[in-house]
Amino acid sequence: MSTFVPASRVSRIKVSPSTAAAARARELKAAGRDIVDLTVGEPDFDTPDNIKAAAHAAIDRGETKYTAVNGTPALRKAIIGDIKRRLGLSYADNEICVGGGAKQILFLALMASVENNAEVIIPAPYWVSYPDMVIANEGKPVIIECPQETGFKLTPEALERAITPKTLWLVLNAPSNPTGAAYDRSELEALGKVLLRHPHVFVLSDDIYDQVWFKDEPMTTLVAAVPELKERVLLTNGVSKSYAMTGWRIGYAAGPAVLIAAINKLQSQMSSCPSSVSQAAAAYALSSDQSFVTESVTVYRKRRDYACSRLNAVPGLSCLVPDGAFYLFPNCAGVIGKKTPEGKTIETDLDFVLYLLDGVGVAALQGAAYGVSPHFRLSIATSMEAITQACDRIERAVADLY
Ligand code: PMP
Repeated sequence: MSTFVPASRVSRIKVSPSTAAAARARELKAAGRDIVDLTVGEPDFDTPDNIKAAAHAAIDRGETKYTAVNGTPALRKAIIGDIKRRLGLSYADNEICVGGGAKQILFLALMASVENNAEVIIPAPYWVSYPDMVIANEGKPVIIECPQETGFKLTPEALERAITPKTLWLVLNAPSNPTGAAYDRSELEALGKVLLRHPHVFVLSDDIYDQVWFKDEPMTTLVAAVPELKERVLLTNGVSKSYAMTGWRIGYAAGPAVLIAAINKLQSQMSSCPSSVSQAAAAYALSSDQSFVTESVTVYRKRRDYACSRLNAVPGLSCLVPDGAFYLFPNCAGVIGKKTPEGKTIETDLDFVLYLLDGVGVAALQGAAYGVSPHFRLSIATSMEAITQACDRIERAVADLY
């Protein structure tokens, strides 16, 4: 009997390191270890009760069948309304698609557009999935390193240098996972100027964290700052992060009708549509009272302020204060080359996170997984108590190095 050999697109990619690290933390906890898990990429809040009630009501109304491939009319209307309300942009019904999470929409957008090693510019630090999604779809990731000194942000000069005739997409994710960096309107305008000079470049604007926003100035995104780019930007978003609905699996996109139709065509052969019940809940979340969003951001902001000030007081670590999302991406250059109490030298950020896990039971992710070292990612989508414990333990772990 011959053994099964997966297609090469499978061996070219890897399992998401954040999923793998979260699984390892869970395993250690199950084995009785005292682990503070800061790998989580989802809100620690429960989905608000009124959103749950909207899902129950949809079930009772019999909304339990396949929906249109491009989502229910109610959800599309809610998405259009939400984008208009928050960004002031108007999209038509045929410019909207929905899917099983923003992740699926991003994958489908790449599947619908990338071939023959088309280049996709990905600023680093990046969300771990982008390069693999590009590779799985026969494209070539072009990574631009955006260090802490530029606030982890893409500069117009670096963008200009990376564009070639083969560039198809630029991926912009702000606020970013893993750094929380977000662009000012003037920075977006400067990037927009470069993009206007290169009309063959399209932009995947991953705005999944756009409501977890800490800056004083109102939230903005590339297409709102540079509306001339509207025909070249695919805005992707979802309800996972803003409404604590990660398990409901609803994401969506707004963009050029031809691309949206291509995504819908693929979706029609892939999943037909996302869950009808989840779509009803998402439609409600986007169009009803938004107090959950404001309240959760206030909580995240408190945690961010506390964790940043604690980490910045640790010699050897330095943490840029994020503008949004719920992650910190501290620099750990000051601990590289030091020795652990067991005499092992910390050579990389992976060594450091393994030392934190084994030495003091703090689960974090190495910066290398996000394309920029030496850093580590901590999630603050967890209780203040866990964050306090983690900071105490990290402080102790670093003090024990010599
Ligand atoms: N983009 C980024 C940057 C993310 O961090 C995530 C979730 N980890 C997603 C997209 C996907 O979110 P979802 O599929 O839950 O909508």
